[in-house]
Amino acid sequence: MELTFFDDAPNYKAVEIVREPLQTYFDEVGELLPELPRKLNIWLDNDGLVEETGEGGFAYSPDIINIAFDVDFEDTQAQLKALRGTVFHESYHLVQGHTSVEPKAEYRSMLDNAIYEGCATVFERVHAGVSPLWGEYKQHSQEELETWRDAMATYSNEDYRDGKLGLWPKWAFYDKDDGQRWKLYKVGSWMVDEAVERMRIGVLEMRNMSAEEILSV
Ligand SMILES: [Zn+2]
Repeated sequence: MELTFFDDAPNYKAVEIVREPLQTYFDEVGELLPELPRKLNIWLDNDGLVEETGEGGFAYSPDIINIAFDVDFEDTQAQLKALRGTVFHESYHLVQGHTSVEPKAEYRSMLDNAIYEGCATVFERVHAGVSPLWGEYKQHSQEELETWRDAMATYSNEDYRDGKLGLWPKWAFYDKDDGQRWKLYKVGSWMVDEAVERMRIGVLEMRNMSAEEILSV
């Protein structure tokens, strides 16, 4: 894998710490995901930082990944372990085409975003061996998860991505009305775990499937 770091990125100073680990992690995930572009660009920016882990990321475009990394985080070992999970997660998004700009994934509603997030989260859990907080849904009842799922299916993908409506931060990160975090990720992880059971295939084998295909089997 050939990684290029934008030197005008706001947190470019982190490159000294993350360059080598990122190279290792992307080489590893590139073995699992042969469709991943061999040349990737990294934008180091603490937009998207997860406070608990001191890192974070998102799949910006088909060949640009945003990586957040707090250079002052205390537990560097735990932070790098989480970063490896993030690399696996964001790489899966690139293969499935779930990116902020130029997405090639198909969306029938906001709920399909949950499926793509669930796929990447389960992939991160199974193949990077990390347990992201946003993938832990077992503390919620089946009924609660179903209620959230059904609510998400009523919103369009366009509304979800419309910054003015605030659906993204509310459902993906924190809903101040009910105090719940990561509802979209939790519902997605639950639904993908169920699909894995139902289809008897691994999440790796779902990487080229659309949300519609994953739910229809
Ligand atoms: Zn994601």
